[in-house]
Amino acid sequence: MPIQLLPVSLANQIAAGEVIERPASVVKELVENSLDSGADQIIIEIEQGGRRLIRIRDNGSGIPRDELALALSRHATSKIRSLADLEAILSLGFRGEALASISSVARLTLTSKPATQATAWEAWVEGQDMRAELAPASHPTGTTVTVEDLFFNTPARRKFMRTDKTEFAHIEEVVKRIALARFDVKFQLLHNQKQVRLYPAIRAEADATQRISSVCGSSFTDTALRVEEQAGSVSLSGWIAPVHACRHQADVQYFYVNGRMMKDRLLAHAIRQAYGESLQQGIGEERSPTYVLYLELPAQDVDVNVHPAKHEVRFHQARQIHDFVLHGLRSALATADSAQELMHSA
Ligand code: ADP
Ligand code: MG
Repeated sequence: MPIQLLPVSLANQIAAGEVIERPASVVKELVENSLDSGADQIIIEIEQGGRRLIRIRDNGSGIPRDELALALSRHATSKIRSLADLEAILSLGFRGEALASISSVARLTLTSKPATQATAWEAWVEGQDMRAELAPASHPTGTTVTVEDLFFNTPARRKFMRTDKTEFAHIEEVVKRIALARFDVKFQLLHNQKQVRLYPAIRAEADATQRISSVCGSSFTDTALRVEEQAGSVSLSGWIAPVHACRHQADVQYFYVNGRMMKDRLLAHAIRQAYGESLQQGIGEERSPTYVLYLELPAQDVDVNVHPAKHEVRFHQARQIHDFVLHGLRSALATADSAQELMHSA
Protein backbone atom coordinates (compact mmCIF):
# COMPACT_ATOMS: atom_id res chain seq x y z
CA MET A 1 0.00 0.00 0.00
CA PRO A 2 1.24 3.52 -0.67
CA ILE A 3 1.75 5.82 2.31
CA GLN A 4 -1.38 7.82 3.13
CA LEU A 5 -2.55 10.07 5.95
CA LEU A 6 -5.14 8.34 8.14
CA PRO A 7 -8.69 9.72 8.12
CA VAL A 8 -9.20 12.00 11.19
CA SER A 9 -11.72 9.68 12.80
CA LEU A 10 -9.40 6.68 12.52
CA ALA A 11 -6.43 8.64 13.90
CA ASN A 12 -8.62 9.63 16.84
CA GLN A 13 -9.74 6.04 17.41
CA ILE A 14 -6.12 4.95 17.53
CA ALA A 15 -5.37 7.67 20.08
CA ALA A 16 -8.46 6.58 22.05
CA GLY A 17 -6.91 3.12 22.31
CA GLU A 18 -4.20 4.54 24.59
CA VAL A 19 -6.40 6.23 27.17
CA ILE A 20 -9.99 5.07 26.78
CA GLU A 21 -9.84 1.51 27.94
CA ARG A 22 -13.27 1.22 29.55
CA PRO A 23 -16.13 3.39 30.90
CA ALA A 24 -14.08 4.29 33.99
CA SER A 25 -11.40 5.92 31.79
CA VAL A 26 -14.05 8.17 30.26
CA VAL A 27 -15.22 9.19 33.73
CA LYS A 28 -11.64 9.97 34.78
CA GLU A 29 -10.94 12.17 31.75
CA LEU A 30 -14.24 14.07 31.99
CA VAL A 31 -14.11 14.67 35.74
CA GLU A 32 -10.54 15.91 35.39
CA ASN A 33 -11.76 18.37 32.76
CA SER A 34 -14.44 19.57 35.18
CA LEU A 35 -11.82 20.10 37.89
CA ASP A 36 -9.53 21.96 35.50
CA SER A 37 -12.47 24.26 34.68
CA GLY A 38 -12.69 25.34 38.32
CA ALA A 39 -15.92 23.49 39.14
CA ASP A 40 -16.74 22.83 42.79
CA GLN A 41 -19.82 20.68 42.11
CA ILE A 42 -19.66 17.65 39.87
CA ILE A 43 -22.48 15.20 39.20
CA ILE A 44 -21.62 11.86 37.61
CA GLU A 45 -24.54 9.93 36.15
CA ILE A 46 -24.03 6.39 34.92
CA GLU A 47 -26.37 3.96 33.23
CA GLN A 48 -25.67 0.26 32.74
CA GLY A 49 -22.14 0.39 34.06
CA GLY A 50 -21.35 3.26 31.70
CA ARG A 51 -21.88 1.32 28.48
CA ARG A 52 -25.28 2.99 27.91
CA LEU A 53 -24.59 6.43 29.34
CA ILE A 54 -21.99 8.52 31.13
CA ARG A 55 -22.99 12.09 31.90
CA ILE A 56 -20.83 14.56 33.80
CA ARG A 57 -22.28 17.92 34.83
CA ASP A 58 -20.20 20.68 36.35
CA ASN A 59 -20.53 24.29 37.42
CA GLY A 60 -17.13 25.32 36.06
CA SER A 61 -16.05 28.05 33.68
CA GLY A 62 -17.84 26.64 30.61
CA ILE A 63 -16.72 26.73 26.97
CA PRO A 64 -17.57 29.68 24.69
CA ARG A 65 -19.74 28.86 21.67
CA ASP A 66 -16.99 29.48 19.16
CA GLU A 67 -14.60 27.10 20.96
CA LEU A 68 -16.96 24.12 21.23
CA ALA A 69 -15.96 22.56 17.91
CA LEU A 70 -12.30 23.09 18.69
CA ALA A 71 -12.67 21.43 22.09
CA LEU A 72 -13.73 18.28 20.26
CA SER A 73 -10.75 18.20 17.92
CA ARG A 74 -7.47 16.54 18.63
CA HIS A 75 -4.44 18.47 19.94
CA ALA A 76 -6.71 21.36 20.94
CA THR A 77 -6.26 22.53 24.52
CA SER A 78 -6.65 25.71 26.55
CA LYS A 79 -4.17 24.47 29.15
CA ILE A 80 -0.73 24.83 27.62
CA ARG A 81 0.74 27.08 24.97
CA SER A 82 4.44 26.28 24.92
CA LEU A 83 7.13 23.81 25.87
CA ALA A 84 7.79 25.91 28.96
CA ASP A 85 4.16 25.33 30.06
CA LEU A 86 4.53 21.60 29.42
CA GLU A 87 7.56 21.49 31.68
CA ALA A 88 5.64 22.92 34.63
CA ILE A 89 2.14 21.47 34.38
CA LEU A 90 -0.43 22.80 36.82
CA SER A 91 -3.61 21.36 35.25
CA LEU A 92 -4.70 17.72 35.17
CA GLY A 93 -5.10 17.78 31.38
CA PHE A 94 -2.76 19.13 28.70
CA ARG A 95 -2.76 16.64 25.82
CA GLY A 96 -5.92 17.91 24.15
CA GLU A 97 -6.90 14.35 23.30
CA ALA A 98 -9.69 13.24 25.62
CA LEU A 99 -12.76 14.77 23.99
CA ALA A 100 -11.55 13.92 20.48
CA SER A 101 -10.75 10.35 21.52
CA ILE A 102 -14.03 9.77 23.32
CA SER A 103 -16.11 11.27 20.52
CA SER A 104 -14.44 8.93 18.03
CA VAL A 105 -15.62 5.83 19.93
CA ALA A 106 -19.01 6.96 21.31
CA ARG A 107 -21.85 9.42 20.73
CA LEU A 108 -20.70 12.55 22.55
CA THR A 109 -22.67 15.72 23.23
CA LEU A 110 -21.00 18.76 24.74
CA THR A 111 -23.32 21.39 26.25
CA SER A 112 -21.86 24.48 27.83
CA LYS A 113 -22.37 28.02 28.95
CA PRO A 114 -19.68 30.41 30.19
CA ALA A 115 -20.92 32.97 32.74
CA THR A 116 -20.48 35.79 30.22
CA GLN A 117 -22.57 34.16 27.48
CA ALA A 118 -26.36 34.71 27.51
CA THR A 119 -27.36 31.26 26.26
CA ALA A 120 -25.90 27.79 26.21
CA TRP A 121 -24.79 25.94 23.10
CA GLU A 122 -24.45 22.30 22.31
CA ALA A 123 -22.01 20.50 20.00
CA TRP A 124 -21.78 16.96 18.74
CA VAL A 125 -19.76 15.25 16.07
CA GLU A 126 -21.41 13.73 13.07
CA GLY A 127 -20.16 11.04 10.77
CA GLN A 128 -16.69 10.10 9.69
CA ASP A 129 -15.09 13.51 9.19
CA MET A 130 -15.48 14.51 12.87
CA ARG A 131 -17.01 17.86 11.90
CA ALA A 132 -18.99 19.29 14.82
CA GLU A 133 -22.63 20.39 14.56
CA LEU A 134 -23.85 23.25 16.80
CA ALA A 135 -27.27 24.12 18.22
CA PRO A 136 -28.57 26.43 20.97
CA ALA A 137 -29.42 24.67 24.25
CA SER A 138 -30.61 25.28 27.78
CA HIS A 139 -27.97 24.93 30.49
CA PRO A 140 -26.79 26.89 33.56
CA THR A 141 -23.19 28.21 33.71
CA GLY A 142 -20.89 25.21 33.40
CA THR A 143 -20.61 22.17 31.20
CA THR A 144 -22.34 18.84 30.67
CA VAL A 145 -20.72 16.09 28.65
CA THR A 146 -22.92 13.16 27.67
CA VAL A 147 -21.33 10.00 26.33
CA GLU A 148 -23.67 7.34 24.97
CA ASP A 149 -23.09 3.87 23.59
CA LEU A 150 -19.38 3.69 24.31
CA PHE A 151 -17.43 1.61 21.75
CA PHE A 152 -20.54 1.22 19.53
CA ASN A 153 -18.28 1.50 16.47
CA THR A 154 -15.22 -0.37 17.82
CA PRO A 155 -16.36 -3.99 18.32
CA ALA A 156 -12.94 -5.15 19.51
CA ARG A 157 -13.08 -2.74 22.46
CA ARG A 158 -16.72 -3.43 23.14
CA LYS A 159 -15.93 -7.12 23.59
CA PHE A 160 -13.53 -6.31 26.40
CA MET A 161 -16.11 -4.59 28.56
CA ARG A 162 -17.17 -6.67 31.56
CA THR A 163 -20.55 -6.85 33.34
CA ASP A 164 -22.30 -3.62 34.33
CA LYS A 165 -21.42 -4.40 37.93
CA THR A 166 -17.71 -4.75 37.22
CA GLU A 167 -17.56 -1.67 35.02
CA PHE A 168 -19.41 0.34 37.65
CA ALA A 169 -16.99 -0.87 40.34
CA HIS A 170 -14.14 0.56 38.25
CA ILE A 171 -16.02 3.85 37.94
CA GLU A 172 -16.56 3.98 41.71
CA GLU A 173 -12.85 3.49 42.22
CA VAL A 174 -12.04 6.37 39.86
CA VAL A 175 -14.51 8.60 41.71
CA LYS A 176 -12.96 7.65 45.06
CA ARG A 177 -9.49 8.50 43.81
CA ILE A 178 -10.60 11.88 42.59
CA ALA A 179 -12.65 12.57 45.71
CA LEU A 180 -9.51 12.04 47.79
CA ALA A 181 -7.66 14.55 45.66
CA ARG A 182 -10.16 17.40 46.00
CA PHE A 183 -11.85 17.75 49.39
CA ASP A 184 -13.18 21.17 48.41
CA VAL A 185 -15.35 19.78 45.61
CA LYS A 186 -18.78 18.18 46.04
CA PHE A 187 -19.16 14.91 44.13
CA GLN A 188 -22.35 12.98 43.46
CA LEU A 189 -22.37 9.58 41.77
CA LEU A 190 -25.56 8.00 40.43
CA HIS A 191 -26.07 4.59 38.88
CA ASN A 192 -29.29 3.83 37.00
CA GLN A 193 -30.88 6.96 38.50
CA LYS A 194 -30.04 6.02 42.09
CA GLN A 195 -27.54 7.98 44.15
CA VAL A 196 -24.67 5.68 45.08
CA ARG A 197 -22.16 8.15 46.58
CA LEU A 198 -22.34 11.66 47.90
CA TYR A 199 -19.23 13.49 49.06
CA PRO A 200 -20.12 16.97 50.32
CA ALA A 201 -17.49 19.68 49.93
CA ILE A 202 -15.14 19.98 52.90
CA ARG A 203 -14.18 23.56 53.64
CA ALA A 204 -11.96 23.28 56.74
CA GLU A 205 -8.72 21.32 56.92
CA ALA A 206 -9.81 19.95 60.29
CA ASP A 207 -12.75 18.19 58.64
CA ALA A 208 -10.56 16.35 56.11
CA THR A 209 -10.92 13.07 57.99
CA GLN A 210 -14.66 13.12 57.17
CA ARG A 211 -13.89 12.75 53.47
CA ILE A 212 -11.15 10.19 54.14
CA SER A 213 -13.41 8.05 56.27
CA SER A 214 -16.34 8.20 53.86
CA VAL A 215 -14.05 7.04 51.06
CA CYS A 216 -11.74 4.62 52.92
CA GLY A 217 -13.90 3.59 55.86
CA SER A 218 -13.66 4.64 59.48
CA SER A 219 -11.52 1.58 60.29
CA PHE A 220 -8.76 3.36 58.39
CA THR A 221 -9.19 6.82 59.91
CA ASP A 222 -9.58 5.41 63.45
CA THR A 223 -6.11 3.87 63.41
CA ALA A 224 -4.14 5.79 60.78
CA LEU A 225 -1.08 7.78 61.77
CA ARG A 226 -0.65 11.34 60.61
CA VAL A 227 2.23 12.02 58.22
CA GLU A 228 3.76 15.50 58.07
CA GLU A 229 7.16 16.06 56.50
CA GLN A 230 8.65 19.13 54.93
CA ALA A 231 12.01 19.91 53.33
CA GLY A 232 12.35 23.17 51.46
CA SER A 233 9.72 23.29 48.74
CA VAL A 234 8.84 19.59 49.03
CA SER A 235 6.20 18.32 51.44
CA LEU A 236 4.55 15.02 52.29
CA SER A 237 1.32 14.78 54.24
CA GLY A 238 -1.50 12.34 54.78
CA TRP A 239 -2.20 9.16 56.71
CA ILE A 240 -0.57 5.74 56.98
CA ALA A 241 -1.88 2.71 58.86
CA PRO A 242 0.36 1.12 61.48
CA VAL A 243 1.28 -2.50 60.67
CA HIS A 244 -1.34 -4.06 62.95
CA ALA A 245 -4.09 -2.03 61.18
CA CYS A 246 -2.88 -2.62 57.63
CA ARG A 247 -5.42 -4.22 55.42
CA HIS A 248 -5.12 -7.68 53.92
CA GLN A 249 -6.42 -6.36 50.61
CA ALA A 250 -4.46 -3.71 48.76
CA ASP A 251 -7.52 -1.47 48.48
CA VAL A 252 -6.50 1.61 50.44
CA GLN A 253 -3.38 2.70 48.59
CA TYR A 254 -3.62 6.24 47.37
CA PHE A 255 -0.59 8.34 46.55
CA TYR A 256 -0.97 11.79 45.01
CA VAL A 257 1.76 13.86 43.42
CA ASN A 258 0.72 17.48 43.03
CA GLY A 259 -2.94 16.45 43.17
CA ARG A 260 -2.65 13.62 40.66
CA MET A 261 -3.01 10.00 41.72
CA MET A 262 0.01 7.91 40.82
CA LYS A 263 1.01 4.27 40.67
CA ASP A 264 4.69 4.95 40.84
CA ARG A 265 7.27 2.22 41.42
CA LEU A 266 9.75 4.50 43.14
CA LEU A 267 7.13 5.64 45.67
CA ALA A 268 5.76 2.11 46.16
CA HIS A 269 9.30 1.01 46.96
CA ALA A 270 9.78 3.78 49.53
CA ILE A 271 6.52 2.81 51.23
CA ARG A 272 7.43 -0.91 51.37
CA GLN A 273 10.82 -0.05 52.77
CA ALA A 274 9.28 2.17 55.46
CA TYR A 275 7.26 -0.78 56.73
CA GLY A 276 10.29 -3.07 56.48
CA GLU A 277 9.80 -6.77 57.18
CA SER A 278 6.92 -6.18 59.53
CA LEU A 279 4.20 -6.69 56.92
CA GLN A 280 5.05 -10.38 56.49
CA GLN A 281 3.71 -12.02 59.60
CA GLY A 282 3.78 -15.66 58.58
CA ILE A 283 2.19 -17.45 55.67
CA GLY A 284 -1.32 -16.29 54.80
CA GLU A 285 -0.99 -13.41 57.23
CA GLU A 286 0.48 -10.91 54.81
CA ARG A 287 -0.81 -7.39 55.01
CA SER A 288 -0.66 -4.63 52.43
CA PRO A 289 0.69 -1.14 52.91
CA THR A 290 -2.35 1.04 53.67
CA TYR A 291 -2.13 4.78 53.09
CA VAL A 292 -3.47 8.03 51.69
CA LEU A 293 -0.53 10.32 50.96
CA TYR A 294 0.04 13.65 49.27
CA LEU A 295 3.40 14.71 47.93
CA GLU A 296 3.75 18.30 46.80
CA LEU A 297 6.76 19.64 44.95
CA PRO A 298 7.48 22.38 42.42
CA ALA A 299 5.84 21.48 39.09
CA GLN A 300 9.12 21.86 37.22
CA ASP A 301 10.75 19.14 39.38
CA VAL A 302 8.49 16.42 38.04
CA ASP A 303 7.63 15.28 34.52
CA VAL A 304 4.03 14.11 34.11
CA ASN A 305 4.29 13.69 30.33
CA VAL A 306 5.60 10.14 30.59
CA HIS A 307 2.49 8.07 29.92
CA PRO A 308 -0.74 8.96 28.04
CA ALA A 309 -2.92 8.05 31.03
CA LYS A 310 -0.54 10.02 33.29
CA HIS A 311 -0.31 7.52 36.13
CA GLU A 312 3.44 7.53 36.09
CA VAL A 313 5.78 10.43 36.71
CA ARG A 314 9.47 11.05 36.51
CA PHE A 315 11.10 12.94 39.33
CA HIS A 316 14.12 14.97 38.37
CA GLN A 317 15.71 14.10 41.70
CA ALA A 318 14.40 10.58 42.12
CA ARG A 319 16.79 9.44 44.84
CA GLN A 320 16.14 12.45 47.06
CA ILE A 321 12.37 12.13 46.69
CA HIS A 322 12.52 8.43 47.53
CA ASP A 323 14.53 9.06 50.67
CA PHE A 324 12.38 12.02 51.70
CA VAL A 325 9.23 9.88 51.48
CA LEU A 326 10.93 7.00 53.28
CA HIS A 327 12.03 9.27 56.10
CA GLY A 328 8.60 10.87 56.49
CA LEU A 329 6.86 7.52 56.67
CA ARG A 330 9.38 5.99 59.05
CA SER A 331 8.90 8.91 61.44
CA ALA A 332 5.13 8.46 61.36
CA LEU A 333 5.35 4.67 61.83
CA ALA A 334 7.84 5.13 64.69
CA THR A 335 5.22 7.03 66.68
CA ALA A 336 3.05 3.87 66.62
CA ASP A 337 5.95 1.68 67.73
CA SER A 338 6.70 3.88 70.70
CA ALA A 339 3.01 4.02 71.66
CA GLN A 340 2.89 0.20 71.58
CA GLU A 341 6.02 -0.10 73.67
CA LEU A 342 4.47 2.21 76.25
CA MET A 343 1.38 0.03 76.39
CA HIS A 344 3.41 -3.14 76.86
CA SER A 345 5.66 -1.69 79.55
CA ALA A 346 2.71 -0.27 81.51
P1 ADP B 1 -7.18 18.70 27.68
O1 ADP B 1 -7.92 18.47 28.95
O2 ADP B 1 -5.92 17.91 27.61
O3 ADP B 1 -6.97 20.16 27.37
P2 ADP B 1 -9.57 17.64 26.43
O4 ADP B 1 -9.81 17.00 25.10
O5 ADP B 1 -9.89 16.85 27.63
O6 ADP B 1 -8.06 18.11 26.45
O7 ADP B 1 -10.39 19.01 26.44
C1 ADP B 1 -10.17 19.97 25.44
C2 ADP B 1 -10.48 21.38 25.93
O8 ADP B 1 -11.89 21.50 26.12
C3 ADP B 1 -9.87 21.75 27.26
O9 ADP B 1 -8.57 22.25 27.11
C4 ADP B 1 -10.85 22.80 27.79
O10 ADP B 1 -10.53 24.07 27.29
C5 ADP B 1 -12.17 22.38 27.20
N1 ADP B 1 -13.01 21.63 28.18
C6 ADP B 1 -13.20 20.29 28.22
N2 ADP B 1 -14.04 19.95 29.22
C7 ADP B 1 -14.37 21.10 29.85
C8 ADP B 1 -15.20 21.41 30.98
N3 ADP B 1 -15.85 20.48 31.66
N4 ADP B 1 -15.33 22.73 31.31
C9 ADP B 1 -14.67 23.69 30.63
N5 ADP B 1 -13.87 23.46 29.57
C10 ADP B 1 -13.72 22.18 29.18
MG1 MG C 1 -8.82 16.67 29.49
